[in-house]
Amino acid sequence: MRNINNSKLRIIPLGGLEQIGMNITAFEFEDSIIVVDCGLSFPEDDMLGIDLVIPDITYLRDNIQKVKGFVITHGHEDHIGALPYVLKEINVPVYATKLTIGLIENKLREHNLINNTKRKVIQHGQSINLGAFRIEFIKTNHSIVDASALAIYSPAGIIVHTGDFKVDYTPVFGDAIDLQRFGEIGKKGVLALMCDSTNAERPGFTNSERTVGKTFIIATFASNVDRVQQIINSAYKYGRKVVVEGRSMVNVIKTASELGYLNVPDKTLIDIEMMKNYPDDQVVLITTGSQGESMAALSRIAASLHKKVQIKPGDTVIFSSKAIPGNEKAVSKVINELSMKGADVIFQDAHVSGHACQEEIKLLYSLVHPKYAIPVHGEYRHLKAQADLARSLGISKENIFLLSSGDVLELGADSASVVDHVHTGAILVDGLGVGDVGNIVLRDRQHLAEDGIMIVVLTLEKYSNQLLAGPDIVSRGFVYVRESEDLMGEARAVVDKAVGDCLDRGVSDWGKLKNVIKDSLSDFIWKKTKRDPMILPIIMEV
Ligand SMILES: [Zn+2]
Ligand SMILES: [Zn+2]
Repeated sequence: MRNINNSKLRIIPLGGLEQIGMNITAFEFEDSIIVVDCGLSFPEDDMLGIDLVIPDITYLRDNIQKVKGFVITHGHEDHIGALPYVLKEINVPVYATKLTIGLIENKLREHNLINNTKRKVIQHGQSINLGAFRIEFIKTNHSIVDASALAIYSPAGIIVHTGDFKVDYTPVFGDAIDLQRFGEIGKKGVLALMCDSTNAERPGFTNSERTVGKTFIIATFASNVDRVQQIINSAYKYGRKVVVEGRSMVNVIKTASELGYLNVPDKTLIDIEMMKNYPDDQVVLITTGSQGESMAALSRIAASLHKKVQIKPGDTVIFSSKAIPGNEKAVSKVINELSMKGADVIFQDAHVSGHACQEEIKLLYSLVHPKYAIPVHGEYRHLKAQADLARSLGISKENIFLLSSGDVLELGADSASVVDHVHTGAILVDGLGVGDVGNIVLRDRQHLAEDGIMIVVLTLEKYSNQLLAGPDIVSRGFVYVRESEDLMGEARAVVDKAVGDCLDRGVSDWGKLKNVIKDSLSDFIWKKTKRDPMILPIIMEV
């Protein structure tokens, strides 16, 4: 492919930098755009009631006629989770390996998109042509099978995108990473390498998944198919039955075993209903909730809210994934609850990770030998750590780009620079609502969560504006009313007086009346309690 008119390739990360999650990157050449990954991230502590966060794709929407397809590296939520939301607006084909497509199809079914979304299963080593691009899928290792790196051939040059990867010479399932292919592509001359930075601060190699063993209740990510396979392997070896709990876990295991990515020996999996028929030492329970998610099975088990599983003294609970920053508090609550019930809580070796450590990153740089380095997948410090590695390998500072989401990096055969910045952002999803919860709603939720609410109800007579009933005050999450009857009585008197004064002065405008109620009540409550509940006046007219 010769670049005849010197057009440049534009790489535009629309999410996934400065944060973990929400990976999505657009590659644009003239009238072609391909999008690599389309993930979600999970809400921060202060996003009350938000289920998930998806990227703002205004840029893609504005250039919709150019978008040729989504190319997905692997089946983790931070790479596929936003697809169903984004496909509703940008309905283009999706390309990925078999298990990844299987997991995407689960989502499409949930969102009723399965019949109008084109999708194609690609094998490692295979290439697809999309507009100005050719994209080759390269086998890698990660904590989920069927993960791919991508070689993106554009008229401006070759970009290698690693996806999430590590080098595992003895993977639990399938083959080792195709290092040879990385070397071959490196020999052709690679313009830029976009490499996973998650573990760039950790020296050495990440351990092989093979080194992990033993069991009872094991909490892990639903998407950690490799870990699930090992649990099943060792359960089978020691004659234990395996019970799976948690909706997302059941989904992933079903898809992975249907597609042949999980070997489940006959009669190893049993239904949770059957669990009571087996002695404790013949069962292993795999569950979601390793991040302390309040609705996940493990949290319900720990809080004795689970209908079918109770913790007994001596039970062993293994956390098979580290707490993601921000989840530590929730995780430690679950651990405390489990320990109080007499369970032994164990953390599995945190060094077995799905992401490459420093030596692996260096290996990949040496094989691919890129002109430019673009660290991806991580917070700033992770990207920076990889940048330092790249420098130590002889890549000059001007050739290393620490991008922010929205940066437009323009690459030519001999040039690279950030030339523009496009709109990006996060869209909050709450239940079925996408993007309808903004800052004001979040602020209200914060307010409600911190100080509760007081509702003031009163009834006025039409035309005469006589007070017929009330004011009555109802509160939730503010004080325990039965123990605060005096306070509530005084509060009622304060509002009564304020409303009476207003009506005597002939003020009948409801807006003004509501403000008077709010001001008088909040002054009084603040003086008495130093609290600031939300106050909601409701005026009725008969
Ligand atoms: Zn991943
Ligand atoms: Zn990831």
